[in-house]
Amino acid sequence: MLINYGEELILDLQGCNPTQFSEENIRKFLIELCDLIKMKRHGDPLFWHDYTQTPHLKGVSVMQFIETSDIVIHGLDFLETALINIFSCKKFDTQIAIHFSKEFFQAKTHHHTLVLRKTKAFDNPKVEVRTHPEHGQGLFAKEKIYDGETIAVFDGKIITAQKASDIPNLPPTHIRDHSIQFAKDKYRISQGIASYANHSCSPNCGIQNKFKIVSMQEIEPNEEITFDYDMSENSDWSMQCSCNSKECRKTIHGHQYLPQEKKIQYQNFISEWLTK
Ligand SMILES: [Zn+2]
Repeated sequence: MLINYGEELILDLQGCNPTQFSEENIRKFLIELCDLIKMKRHGDPLFWHDYTQTPHLKGVSVMQFIETSDIVIHGLDFLETALINIFSCKKFDTQIAIHFSKEFFQAKTHHHTLVLRKTKAFDNPKVEVRTHPEHGQGLFAKEKIYDGETIAVFDGKIITAQKASDIPNLPPTHIRDHSIQFAKDKYRISQGIASYANHSCSPNCGIQNKFKIVSMQEIEPNEEITFDYDMSENSDWSMQCSCNSKECRKTIHGHQYLPQEKKIQYQNFISEWLTK
């Protein structure tokens, strides 16, 4: 499954003022741009100058690493053109980036394209979504899974809500049922298969960090993959459980109600927001 991996803004500015292409100005541009679009710069920008008199070459090329990827600029003196790429897996305000760049290089016109980048979901290839006899859908092992393997990751959209019941839960998305809580007022859905993991009161997986479903034991082929929702949830959310395990607590209503012996059993598999 392919998931979104940020976006790349390809911005071409025409009719620029080439005096703006000096190293000093471009350093200033990168600092101000990164502040405006909330990007963290890593290291100094790298400059490369072409001093030929070839119209489509003469100018400056610059690369600035940012924490979430990079910014590349080509300033072409004779063509009065600046070619800018801003690529980040973290979302940024492209309109602010376009407006600021245009103003800074005093461009008369511009053209831009936004490209959505894609990568593989962080899903374990040995796991798949199958129809569940009782719970709609669920995650199942296609082949043996070993202790400590990452199953899937909640890596999607973040939702802010004071309490779980404030999150919409309408079909087909069922956002509330498909999200994991990771702070008192924050929830996250997955782009891949993580959202399909069902609850069990005797789970074979747990939560590591805040977003990762990780196996706590060996899992045999065709076994369902589950975690205990009280490893991460602690709001006004609750559900009646019919997991059929001998240890079934019947009502699942948040980490605060998880029995002490379960908290000990789940050690290292409870979301960090509840333990740190
Ligand atoms: Zn149960």
